[in-house]
Amino acid sequence: MTKTAPLKLFNSLTRQLEEFQPVHPGEARVYTCGPTVYNFQHIGNMRAYVFADTLGRTLSFKGYQLRHVINITDVGHLTSDADVGDDKMEKAAVQQGKSAWDIAKFYTDAYWTDIERLNIRQPYQWSIATDYVPRMIDFAKSIAEKHCYELPSGLYFDTSTVADYGRLARAATEDGEGRIESVEGKRHQADFAIWRKTPEGETRQMEWDSPWGRGAPGWHLECSVMSEALLGLPFDIHTGGIDHREIHHPNEIAQNQAFTNCGSLSCAENSGARFWMHNNFLIDRGGKMSKSTGDFLRLQVLVDRGFHPLAYRLLCLQAHYRSELEFSWENLQSAFTRLKRIVMGIERLKARVENEPPGQADMNLYQIDERISNDLNTAEVLVIVESIAGMKGFAGDRLNAIAEADKILGLNLLSLTRADLRVRPANAQLTAEEIEAELAKRKDARANKDFATSDAIRDALLAKGVEVMDGDPLGWDWKTE
Ligand code: AMP
Ligand code: ZN
Repeated sequence: MTKTAPLKLFNSLTRQLEEFQPVHPGEARVYTCGPTVYNFQHIGNMRAYVFADTLGRTLSFKGYQLRHVINITDVGHLTSDADVGDDKMEKAAVQQGKSAWDIAKFYTDAYWTDIERLNIRQPYQWSIATDYVPRMIDFAKSIAEKHCYELPSGLYFDTSTVADYGRLARAATEDGEGRIESVEGKRHQADFAIWRKTPEGETRQMEWDSPWGRGAPGWHLECSVMSEALLGLPFDIHTGGIDHREIHHPNEIAQNQAFTNCGSLSCAENSGARFWMHNNFLIDRGGKMSKSTGDFLRLQVLVDRGFHPLAYRLLCLQAHYRSELEFSWENLQSAFTRLKRIVMGIERLKARVENEPPGQADMNLYQIDERISNDLNTAEVLVIVESIAGMKGFAGDRLNAIAEADKILGLNLLSLTRADLRVRPANAQLTAEEIEAELAKRKDARANKDFATSDAIRDALLAKGVEVMDGDPLGWDWKTE
């Protein structure tokens, strides 16, 4: 089916919906700011990647050849945005008694595990910041003379040398309002380090030689360089969480302007990308998203409680990416139940499809295209999927339409079974075999009309976190909440 609805996306740079037109015909080039691998990613971070994946899937769905890059920041991200404080990686290395390289490897692997569990597609390339340091030095050299100045602590970008600095943020970044700490000697509060020198008499685990002394690249420089190296300037879309709209992305834009000598931002593509897109935050009122607390909310915590990771993906898709999304166990529970219902509906369709002639209707595909093309309205695509699953008509046609929608949703709807969704909680007191044995006893009791025993078995199972579901093909499930 051809996808004819115009693809409209919200561009943070112009603060409006714009129609997507690729820089290179037939192709879509996307750069996503990825994790800083000094710790696990929390589920809020994962919302950013579900969003970027949904965008990528939509571009593929619309027929574009997708070239998606996600970076891994393994050096240069400081504990404070104001160019002071420690490098997050070096700090974690000291705290955990490991090398910064081991820390990077460990948390990169953990991140990739979560990416896979959320059915986020592999990008065209993961770009690892430490692989690009020579190129970062070349980039910095090319802009140093006109746009930078040196201080004892490093090479700084002079934000007054580019037009429209901070336009993306449209906040008081120029004077750095709200920033308490600062580096002495900076010409403007908003100026930022693109190279940080290792302090005299110290050695860092991750450091390189440069014309400005031994040290490490600044975090903002990394993303400018890797996006330019792998996608060319200008590319189509740059994504990240909404916090990046205020400092990280305005700084990337300033560097890109300097690098391309392009002057003002009157044309959005002078920023490096035509579209800058930002997902809003996942909020947790319980305060469990802060990485400074030991048991912060990461995907594994959800799985340990018996939730399937794709229930979290569905929770994200239920909300628009530009809206705040509140996390609660209740919300997650209802997303999980919703996923189970959809999967059950699809299982019923699958059971029927063998007995019917091939269908030919192109059902509801236009609607799916239209909704997703309207700034990625995944919430409405989900509703369409539910209505297709519950409609009359040929099961085969309906399964085809759901398969098409799932190219965008990425919920594995056609292959997932309800049994797959039965995730054993970490604190479960019983094994599946023990549960089956209890259920067999209960069946005998019922056959003998011994309802007292049958009820007692059910209650005992419930006390151990197992819900008996009479009349349901699955028979039992873990109680998640
Ligand atoms: P970091 O590892 O801190 O560099 O963050 C990785 C990504 O997660 C960035 O795109 C952030 O903007 C994004 N992010 C951070 N916190 C949240 C949150 N609570 N909800 C959604 N996205 C977030
Ligand atoms: Zn970035």
